Order: sequence, then structure tokens, then C-alpha cells
Amino acid sequence: MAAHQEKKLAEERKHQNMQNDTKTSQGQWGRAWEVDWFSLASILFLLMFAPLIVYYFIMSCAQYQCSLTDPLLDLLKGDKHLSDIWNRTPRLTYRAAGIYSLWVTFQVVLYLSIPDFCHKFLPGYVGGVQEGAVTPAGVVNKYEINGLQAWIITHVLWFANASCFHFFSPTIIFDNWIPLLWCANILGYTVSTFAMIKGYFFPTNAKDCKFTGNFFYDYMMGIEFNPRIGKWFDFKLFFNGRPGIVAWTLINLSFAAKQQELYGEVTNSMILVNVLQGIYVLDFFWNEAWYLKTIDICHDHFGWYLGWGDCVWLPYLYTLQGLYLVYYPVQLGTAHAVGVLMLGLLGYYIFRMTNHQKDLFRRTNGNCRIWGKKPEYIECSYMSVDGTKYYSKLMTSGFWGWARHFNYTGDLMGSLAYCLACGFEHILPYFYIIYMTILLTHRCIRDEHRCSSKYGKDWKHYTAAVPYRLLPGIF
Ligand code: NDP
Repeated sequence: MAAHQEKKLAEERKHQNMQNDTKTSQGQWGRAWEVDWFSLASILFLLMFAPLIVYYFIMSCAQYQCSLTDPLLDLLKGDKHLSDIWNRTPRLTYRAAGIYSLWVTFQVVLYLSIPDFCHKFLPGYVGGVQEGAVTPAGVVNKYEINGLQAWIITHVLWFANASCFHFFSPTIIFDNWIPLLWCANILGYTVSTFAMIKGYFFPTNAKDCKFTGNFFYDYMMGIEFNPRIGKWFDFKLFFNGRPGIVAWTLINLSFAAKQQELYGEVTNSMILVNVLQGIYVLDFFWNEAWYLKTIDICHDHFGWYLGWGDCVWLPYLYTLQGLYLVYYPVQLGTAHAVGVLMLGLLGYYIFRMTNHQKDLFRRTNGNCRIWGKKPEYIECSYMSVDGTKYYSKLMTSGFWGWARHFNYTGDLMGSLAYCLACGFEHILPYFYIIYMTILLTHRCIRDEHRCSSKYGKDWKHYTAAVPYRLLPGIF
């Protein structure tokens, strides 16, 4: 009996030690195990106010001609009550619920049931089954990369309907914009809550789960790293790409169609926004395999931040320029329009080339040429949960020698171009550049914190070799 108890105690101790080891080792890599008060306060703020912020922007356009100050002034002066604004807000309709359900179901079908055929005939395109990066638990997930195909099919059907079949008006998205917002919220909250429950009760990979013990933090930042249903339905890849990014260009097209309906023409500003954001979206799908190596997939866990963010924040706030231009059909002078186009294309070039340089460098393990020369780099190492040592390289030449996140700088230049296309009448279309500056600066800091924990002294050597984050000589 005593021997049995001794054995049981020893097993419990061993289990405890294993958990501690896991915690120590994972603590060096991946998102936080413990929540500081600032993170908690930010998370509570976002959980409470992000849905209101989205509503406020969309309502301001619908009821106040895109003025962000007028609703507040009306409320402060007592000219209007909250109930007045709410009573004028369209409710959830059966029609919007039907459109949204059909839309999401269609994207699920495209995602799950049509294996990629684009890589068979498009030279240079990487699609089909691809591997993601090694997770902290040492897992390498496989993904079916077929986003480009889903985007093409969706848009071909959209144009076929608009020009031949006329089953529905191309203004359908604009015409149901607020009722659709309620549907997007329902999906966003459902999927985030489901992901939380799944993390507790039936995770895809228990070793890649993180629990801080703080409900709000876990709900927001996610527990599971790569939640899946079945072998192929990956939450992160699906929700970011499909209801989020495929929708982006369709929403812009619907706004352009509304301009045509209301004013009999589509302005050059609307065309610029459609073209520049269209390039960004197409780039995303052309490089979907590369997306598997970005922070979203490699490091973020799937919680409300990604689930609700992809369903609501992204399609509603990334498209504010197009929405604004429906209310203010700005026709830009030639110099202004050319300036916006140049800034947008230059930003895109920097964004793409910087991302491409890192991708090429990592894929070839440094055996490539960057700007005609062999890349320079710093050798580094890190450990996974099971104690396996891995080796990696951090490039210090090309755009990666100019700044540690020059891809973000290009992204910010492109974002500014979308906003400048809307003229200078209102602040609302500039929300995007303000938001992206905060997002990407915060992301720099977050990523560097993680990389520093992951690579230790090797990261210090790297930051000494490339001292600036976004702007050489400044920041
Ligand atoms: P990065 O593509 O810059 O990836 C950062 C990771 O790259 C690091 O964690 C590290 O990962 C590795 N790395 C860092 N420095 C080097 C180096 N010198 N050499 C080789 N590898 C390095 O960041 P993101 O995933 O955040 O962004 C990808 C793109 O997506 C960016 O262009 C960004 O602008 C864009 N983006 C757009 C958003 C939007 O909402 N529009 C939102 C977020 C991003 P490792 O652990 O592998 O070493």
C-alpha cells in the first residue's frame, strides 16, 4: 500500500514538473502567461468599446453625413437622445440574415470542397497543400491554400450577376449595410465564444493552448493556437481570409455601384480606393502561403481579437473610405490623383518587396541573392516546449537592413494613400491610417518582445546591427 502511494506521489510530482517545464519553456515564446494591469485594462476597454466604435462610425455616415463630431454635439446639447439615434438605426432583417448566411456558407464551401487548381496553371503562384511554421509545441500544420481561387470565383460570379443575370443589385451590400453589421456581430461573438469553449473542452492541440487564468484576457487573446474542425477547417485562415478579406473588395465594388446609382458616375477617388485596396487584397491571396508565416498565424492565439475582428472590425472599418465616398463623391484634380496613386504604389512596392525578401531568405535558408548580393544575417537559436533546439537566421541586409519592420512602413504609406484619396473635408476616412499606425507600432513592440524572449542574446545582436524599427534614423 505504502509503495503504491509512494509511486502515485512520484507520478504526481513528475506530472507537476512536466507542467512547470512546459510553462517555463512556453513562457519564453508565444503570448503572455500572466496579465499585467495595462493589458487587462486595454482588453476590457476594447471588449466594451470596439463594437460601439464600429457602430458609431457607420451610424455617423448613415445619420450625420460622416461627421464624427455632430452626433456627440447633438447628444451633449440635448438636441437628440441616444434613443433618437437608436430608433433611426435599421434593425436586423430576415433579408440581411439570409444574405449573410448564404455568403458565409458559400465561402465555407469554397474553402473546404474545392482543392486549389490555380497553382496548376498560374506560374509562380504557390497554392494547394502547404505547411505552416513550427508551433511552440513543435507541431507543423498543413493548410489547403485556395484563397485566390475562392476570390476569383466569388468575383467572377459578382460581375456575372452585375452584367448578365441581375439576380440582385450590386448595391446590395450598401443597401443592407447596418442590418448586415448585426449579422457580422452575431457570427463574430459566436465564433469567439465557441473558440473559448473549444479551448477548454476539446482543443485541437492541447499543448499549444494557453490559459492565463484571466477570463477576459483568454477570451480576447484566445486559448487555442490553431483551432480546427476536422482536418482542414482552420479558424484563423478561414476567418481572416474569407468573410474578412474576400468581402473587402466586394464591399468596395458595392459602394462604387451605389455612387453610380446615386450620381450617374463613379468618381476617380472611388476608382483609386477600389484599385489600391484591390491590389492589396489580391496580393494577400496571391501570397496566402506566405501568410502562414506571418504573426497572425505563427504567433497569435485565436480569440475575440481575431474572431470578432475578422468578422466585424475588418470588413466595416477597413472599407470606410469607400463608404465615405458614397456620401461625398470627391472628384480629385489630376495632380492630387496622380500623387495618391504614386504614394499607394510606392507603399505597396516597399510592403511587397520587404515581405518577399524575408520570405525568399527564409525559404532558401539564406542561399539567395538580395539586391544582387548574398544576404547578410545573424545566426540564432531557440527551444520548443519539448526541449528541441531549433536554429534560425535574422537577415540584416536589403530592406531588413534599413529597419526591423520596413514592411510595416510600406503598409502605412499605402494606408495613407487610401485616406488621401478622400480629400480633406472630414476626419472619418483618416481613421484607417490612425488605426494602422497604432496597430503596427503596437505590433512592432509586441513582436520584438516575443522575438527577444525567443532568441535571447541573439536578438540583442540583431537589434544592434539594425537599430531602427520603422524609419531609419528616426524610430
Ligand atoms: P512580419 O512579416 O514582419 O513577421 C515578423 C516575424 O518575422 C518575426 O516574428 C520573426 O519571426 C521574423 N523576423 C523578424 N525579423 C526578421 C529578419 N530580419 N529576418 C528574418 N525573419 C525575421 O510581421 P507580420 O506578420 O506582423 O506582418 C506581415 C505583413 O502583414 C506586414 O507587411 C504587415 O504590414 C501586414 N499586416 C497587415 C495588417 C492589416 O491589418 N492590414 C495587420 C498585420 C500585418 P520568427 O519567429 O520566425 O523569427
